[in-house]
Amino acid sequence: MGIEFEGGSRFFRLFGSGKDTDAGRDVAPTAVPAAASANAAHAILMQDISDFLLGNDLVVTANNLLAAHAAFSGEDSLLARKLLDRRSAGLPITQEWLDQNRTADGLQESVKKIVGALETSLEAFSQTTRSAHAAAESYNLQIANHVSSVPDAGDPAAMVAALEGIAQEMIARGNEFAAEMQRSEAETESLRKELEKARHDADVDHLTGLPNRRAFEGLLDRHFREARQEAENLCVAFCDIDHFKRVNDTHGHDTGDRVIRAIAETLARITNDNCHVARQGGEEFVMLFRGKTPQEAWDKLDAVRENFGSRNFVNRSTEEPIGQITFSGGIADVFAYANPRDALKAADEALYRAKEEGRNRIMLAG
Ligand code: GH3
Ligand code: MG
Ligand code: MG
Repeated sequence: MGIEFEGGSRFFRLFGSGKDTDAGRDVAPTAVPAAASANAAHAILMQDISDFLLGNDLVVTANNLLAAHAAFSGEDSLLARKLLDRRSAGLPITQEWLDQNRTADGLQESVKKIVGALETSLEAFSQTTRSAHAAAESYNLQIANHVSSVPDAGDPAAMVAALEGIAQEMIARGNEFAAEMQRSEAETESLRKELEKARHDADVDHLTGLPNRRAFEGLLDRHFREARQEAENLCVAFCDIDHFKRVNDTHGHDTGDRVIRAIAETLARITNDNCHVARQGGEEFVMLFRGKTPQEAWDKLDAVRENFGSRNFVNRSTEEPIGQITFSGGIADVFAYANPRDALKAADEALYRAKEEGRNRIMLAG
């Protein structure tokens, strides 16, 4: 059962389960009045998202916020279209439907925007709490004035009655304020936690807990700027598990996943403030080494390769031996190329050569 919003936004009329209006039907999800300022458009977008979630009884989670944002901002036009089709067919938007139909790729890109938007809302919310404080102060002032107008001692009964009235009002209003402040603070806190989680989810690979490719781009960008300024070395590397398909084919996907986690842990052991590893995707990892020459980076990575390749893996569910698992790598000196992107490409080419030359080795680019 949806909540009805009187004079609600376009999207509630489009997607909500409440009353429909003819005026709302033809509005496209990306339409924003041309004359509206950026702030107004932003407010409308936030309202649309909120109406959509509430109107369809969807829980306000980071993922639902992201899906709604992607649809209403036009970033995920496919989802927007599907929502419209669903609405025209008179079918409800359930959590299950949304999970199945959101476009996974579009989500991460929208995280930054929604986080920014939510932060703006949070700021507005804090503002509200601050004005509640101000209201409490002005109320105290009123009480003070009120007290000065209490009848003088000539009529003791009237004076006592007036003072009692004031005292009771003070207590009641004070309690009201306290309760309201507590509610506001709890809501702000829970919003803040959701935000933090959304931000964390956007940067972390779920299988390994490592930073994902998107987060790595940010890390590389920062280290590139800093290393250039400080005239320090910076290298990037790609690693890829050898013959990984065989592991999956022979021992199953779950075992494959455990192998991916094992290599992620091993690579993560050499990381620190100047050395980072991220899951690039599948069984590929990308790394950066700041303050290391290509040879020094090679020494470090090759030691990991040798150590990892010497372990014997066992299939945990069948106890069958998997044997040794190796990986290959390619390393490039970032400042030997026009930009970090070209250096990554060179590291990938070096990885390709390592595969060609027999795998279980690390090659330097160039
Ligand atoms: P090569 O030595 O040339 O790298 O051989 P390879 O078998 O590792 O080659 P390829 O890169 O083609 O195969 C990678 C396989 O990894 C294909 C895909 O099914 C599997 N894979 C990708 N992502 C995952 C994942 O998250 N979990 C598991 N278990 N397998 C994955
Ligand atoms: Mg691969
Ligand atoms: Mg591979």
